[in-house]
Amino acid sequence: HRQRQLETALEDLEASNERLEQFAYVVSHDLQEPLRMISSYLSLLEQRYGDELDDDADEFLEFTVDGAERMQAMIDGLLEYSRIETRGNPLEPTDLETVLEDVRTDLQLQIDDTDTNVTVNDLPTVAGDSAQLRQLFQNLLSNAIAYSGDDPPTVEIDAERRDASEPRTDATEHDGDQWIVSVRDDGIGIDPDQTDRIFEIFQRLHTYAEHPGTGIGLALCRRIVDRHGGEIWVDTEPGVGSTFSVALPAVD
Ligand code: ADP
Repeated sequence: HRQRQLETALEDLEASNERLEQFAYVVSHDLQEPLRMISSYLSLLEQRYGDELDDDADEFLEFTVDGAERMQAMIDGLLEYSRIETRGNPLEPTDLETVLEDVRTDLQLQIDDTDTNVTVNDLPTVAGDSAQLRQLFQNLLSNAIAYSGDDPPTVEIDAERRDASEPRTDATEHDGDQWIVSVRDDGIGIDPDQTDRIFEIFQRLHTYAEHPGTGIGLALCRRIVDRHGGEIWVDTEPGVGSTFSVALPAVD
């Protein structure tokens, strides 16, 4: 009887998850069209009448363009988020060292601009979707750099094998060996009361002026990790730094 109850609850959860995904897709897709119109008329306004605007009007236009760009980034993120389940590639042996090389290339500009010292230690091959893992580590590394103090950030990436018999949370579906890959920064850290919230979509702990962002990155990470049957968590201390860890399935 209890087994049946659990199965029904799981089916309900899956159905509502699917509806949510569909909702996110439709909303973000339908928002693209009017936003495209706003953006193109804004740039027309700038091109044709930019010279005639006084300083105030010029600033208002700049804020409007900025708002439109932020909204575009949120829609793009929401679309990506809703596609994690449906657009993924099959999980296959993926060399994380290659993934991290690509991620470094993607973020080279941010790394150079902030003088970040990134150390990548030996990384394993895991069962994964290489494009999604690239997205996952790009978000984690980019956050590690962005949420830093005034000094140039130091970020270290490490991996440690976790035996199938070791304890793990209920969240993980994978019952074989796993690799725990961690991204450690010496940045501003996170209030321990907020560590669950940051994995929810659109949840941010800072104003846009302090740290720009969409609040989608970590929610996207969690979905990617879920799809891999793994888990994601953070160990952190305000003013000292944060370590984001992900558990991913080992291949052998
Ligand atoms: P975004 O960075 O676009 O705001 P995320 O979902 O990636 O969205 O992160 C959510 C929030 O979690 C961030 O706004 C920030 O407050 C906090 N956060 C994420 N990574 C870190 C980090 N490495 N150090 C401190 N705070 C972080």
